[in-house]
Amino acid sequence: GAVVHWFKMDLRCNDNRALALASEKAKEAGVPLICMYIVSPQDYEAHLRSPVRVDFMLRTLQVLQEDLAKLDIPLYVEMVEKRKKVPDRILELMEEWGASHLFANMEYEVDELRREAHMVHDLSENGKAFEVVHDTCVVPPGRLHSGSGNQYAVYSPWFRSWVAHIHENLDLLELYEPPGKNPEDARKKFKKLFDCKIPDAPKNKQLSQEEKKRFRALWPPGEHAATDRLAKFCEEKIGKYKEKRNIPSDDGTSSLSVHLSSGTISARTCVRTARNRNKTKKLDGGIEGIQTWISEVAWRDFYKHVLVHWPFVCMNKPFKPEYSNISWSYDEDHFQRWCEGRTGFPIVDAAMRQLNHVGYMHNRCRMIVASFLSKDLLIDWRKGERYFMEHLVDGDFASNNGGWGFSASVGVDPQPYFRIFNPLLQSEKFDPEGEYIRKWVPELKDLDDKEIHDPYGRGAKDKVKKTGYPEQIVEHKEVRDRALSAYKEGIESG
Ligand code: FAD
Repeated sequence: GAVVHWFKMDLRCNDNRALALASEKAKEAGVPLICMYIVSPQDYEAHLRSPVRVDFMLRTLQVLQEDLAKLDIPLYVEMVEKRKKVPDRILELMEEWGASHLFANMEYEVDELRREAHMVHDLSENGKAFEVVHDTCVVPPGRLHSGSGNQYAVYSPWFRSWVAHIHENLDLLELYEPPGKNPEDARKKFKKLFDCKIPDAPKNKQLSQEEKKRFRALWPPGEHAATDRLAKFCEEKIGKYKEKRNIPSDDGTSSLSVHLSSGTISARTCVRTARNRNKTKKLDGGIEGIQTWISEVAWRDFYKHVLVHWPFVCMNKPFKPEYSNISWSYDEDHFQRWCEGRTGFPIVDAAMRQLNHVGYMHNRCRMIVASFLSKDLLIDWRKGERYFMEHLVDGDFASNNGGWGFSASVGVDPQPYFRIFNPLLQSEKFDPEGEYIRKWVPELKDLDDKEIHDPYGRGAKDKVKKTGYPEQIVEHKEVRDRALSAYKEGIESG
């Protein structure tokens, strides 16, 4: 016999709830633990997983396989082309291994929930148990209610309730131990599984040699890299996080999103570690940087809770149904220029080039470019949401969908639609010396601190023209009015 843990977005040994439970079960039954990961190219395609993310994940599997091998636990990885075939293949493998129990951490997107509900049923018909458990959020979805018993649709009261709930249930922050060592005969019994090689990326998700070199230097894989990054952030930066988090040229945030979205670190560990550095031990008290950071990690929980309560957000629908009828612009040239960072708005272009070059964008800039696409260009926010998923190393459905909904004013707890970011003011406020712009739009590097935010509008015209940097593709004041009327009309006809 054997017990199986199915890795998905939880690629770590430490503080992994389902893995800890699987290990316990195996020990209790006196059988080995087998770990498994299924690569499904069709699933990656359907969920727009970016090549840089797939590469990060495959490299992480390598680390995980080595770590597990030290515990005599195999990590078996197989490619199953068609996503619909995954459940049957898992059942077949379990039969082959003589396994009676399957464990996994729950994912809350609709496709995954449906698949897992079917699997619980199908496996039980075949005499096997499938335990899918809450793990990814600090507070499992479904636990927090407003006074009237509803799920919160606004972050602040939700956050107060999240904090109070954790304070009352501190076990939510407890660490799950890594799995114990397998019995000695596991290696002999499952030799073939120990020999398993991590496959290359599916054909449609491969990186070029140049991209591999670039991305791999930036995103070291695996949970040790994650733990080191968290430790370093807590040591050096968390204290100043509140002041620095909005300055894109400043490396003031944790850059842990790549790890949180692939599960190389748990949100629980992030919150526990930060809290332990705070003398008050209150999530909403003591050192401000720590409080603020914890409240950002909480946003991740918030958007996952939203997904569970309003699953239609997974189906290309805005959270606010009255925003379904906006007449979007389908200007392909504008969209392409946005994607490539050639809009003539330096802060927007810097941000898009950062995304394209490193697979990551600073949070402030995510808001700026999302607002610019949906309001200034009046392009359907779903096109931007998709482009982000296809390029981010930290692409996460709930956070991305939530961030786009917020910025395009169609989501949960959004900015009101009539509050439209002015890219120039955002640029001057959050990149006052143009440092971020200079880094990502090097053709503007010789402009002075004033010119750089609006090269054609501030007397640098001749200098800039020579560099080939484009003029603004729209006039903010004009398109602002266009957006206001389009949103208003859309809502009124909705
Ligand atoms: P830190 O500032 O150090 O924050 C720590 C962690 O808290 C992050 O790693 C992240 O897990 C979480 N977090 C912080 N801010 C948010 C937020 N606003 N929403 C949800 N979680 C948050 N985040 C993703 O992980 N994946 C996405 O696909 C994604 N898409 C976004 C799209 C838009 C339009 C916007 C506005 C935001 C998006 N975010 C997304 C949220 C946020 O921009 C990133 O999590 C953050 O920039 C990551 O950098 P960091 O790890 O240094 O964050």
